[in-house]
Amino acid sequence: MRTVLTGRRKWVTAGVLGAALVAAAPVAFAASPESDDSAARAAAASGDRTQEVRQAIQGGAARNVILFIGDGMGQSEITSARNYERGAAGRLAMDELPLTGDYTTYAVEKGNPAKPDYVTDSAASGTGWATGTKTYNGAISVDAYGNPVPTLLELAKRGGLRTGDVTTSEVQDATPAVLGAHVVDRDCKGPDETTKKCAQNAKENGGAGSISEQLVQTRPDVLLGGGAKYFDQKATAGQFKGKPVLDQAKAAGYDVVTTSDDLAKARPGKPLLGLFAPGNLPVNWVGPKAVQGGTAPSRCTPNPALPKTQPKLAEQTRKALQLLDDRRGKGFFLQVEGASIDKQDHAADPCGQIGETIDFDAAVAAGLAYARSHADTLVVVTADHGHTSQIVSNDAKSPGQTATLVTNEGANMTLNYGTALPGSSMEHTGTQVRIAAYGPQAANVVGLTNQTDLFGTVKRALRLR
Ligand SMILES: [Zn+2]
Repeated sequence: MRTVLTGRRKWVTAGVLGAALVAAAPVAFAASPESDDSAARAAAASGDRTQEVRQAIQGGAARNVILFIGDGMGQSEITSARNYERGAAGRLAMDELPLTGDYTTYAVEKGNPAKPDYVTDSAASGTGWATGTKTYNGAISVDAYGNPVPTLLELAKRGGLRTGDVTTSEVQDATPAVLGAHVVDRDCKGPDETTKKCAQNAKENGGAGSISEQLVQTRPDVLLGGGAKYFDQKATAGQFKGKPVLDQAKAAGYDVVTTSDDLAKARPGKPLLGLFAPGNLPVNWVGPKAVQGGTAPSRCTPNPALPKTQPKLAEQTRKALQLLDDRRGKGFFLQVEGASIDKQDHAADPCGQIGETIDFDAAVAAGLAYARSHADTLVVVTADHGHTSQIVSNDAKSPGQTATLVTNEGANMTLNYGTALPGSSMEHTGTQVRIAAYGPQAANVVGLTNQTDLFGTVKRALRLR
C-alpha cells in the first residue's frame, strides 16, 4: 500500500527530475525516467488510500506558506503538459499534492459587486485570492468601487513575517501586482500609464503611485521577475520627482540583480529585486502555432532566443526560499507565478504553453522539496482562471485552430484553440479550476470552494490579523 511517506519520496524524485528535465528541456522522446511508475499506473490502482488521505489532513498553524499560481492553468493545460512530458499515465510534481479540490473563479461588475462576471482576468482573480474580495476585471486589490483592500502579503509583513513575490512575467503584471499594489486599472504599471489611466492613484494627484512604485513601498523581501522598463520611468511627484523608479527601489534598500549569476550570489540581509527582462521573461519552448485545418505532427524545441542569463522559475524559487528561510523569525509568505502558461494560451502556441507549464512544475517541485524538510509549511498549487486549450481527437474537424504534437511517449496529441478568430488573442474561460495543497490547513481546499476562500485559508494558516 502506498503511504504518505512514499508519496513524499516521489516528490523528491519529481523535484530532481523536474530540474533536470527543465535544464535539458525539451527532452528527446525515449523511455521516460518514470516509465516504471507509469507502467504501474497503467494497471488499476487497487490500494485503499483512506489512511493516506487521513494522514494528509493537518489542522493547526503553518509557519510558512508557499502559494503557486499557474496563470490560466486549467485542467486541460495540466493534462496536455503531463501527456507531453511524462505520458498519459505519468505524474507531474503538482499532481502529488495529497489534498485537492476545485474553486470557482468568477469576477463581478464594476460598481455592482452583486452581479457576477463569469469570466475573470488575472487582476480580479488575483484580488480575489489575495484579499478575499470579489472585484471587477482589471482591478488590482481594490474592491468593485475602487477602494484599496489589504492583501495577504501586506498582512504577513504587518505580522512580522518575511515575504516574497516571484513571477515569469513583469513584476507589475496582475498576479504579482495584487500582493503589493492597489490601482483601479492593471495597466498602471509605471508613472506614465498611471497618469493616463489611473488618475486617482497618480502621485501628482496625491495617490500612492504606479504599481512599480507601490511594490517598492510595500517592500517584499524578495521581488523577482521581469518588467525592468517600468523602473526606468520617472516619478511625477514627491521626493523622487523626475528620477527613475529604480532610484526609489535602491533608496528602499533593495539589491538589484539582472542575471542568473547575480541571483545565485544574492545573500540574506537586504531585500532583493530581480529584474531579468525589460518586459515578460522569454518562454522556454517553441513549436508550431495552432492554425485552422491543423499542423503536421511536431515536436517542441528549446527557444533559441532564450537568454542564457535568464534564471528558470525553479532557480528563482529556490533562491527566494533560501532568502526567506529564517528559523528564528516568524516564518514567511511566498507567491510564485508561472505567468506565461496564460500568455501562450492566448497566442494559441501549444509548445510555448506546455514548456511554461513544465517550467512552473519544476518550481512546484522545488517548493515541495522545501516543505518536505520544513513540516510546518503549507504549499498550495492552483490557477487563477481557466483558459482556451482543449485536447481533442487527432481527426477532429474543428472550426477552431489546432496543432498536433508528438509527445515524449511517441503518441500524437492535438490541441484546439477555439475562443477567438485567427490572428486575435484567445480568451480565458469561466470554468472552475484545480486547487491542491499539502501541509497545515490543506484540508480547506477539498471539495468545491470559492477563489476568495483561499485568502481565508492562508490567513488562518499563518495566523494573520
Ligand atoms: Zn490571460
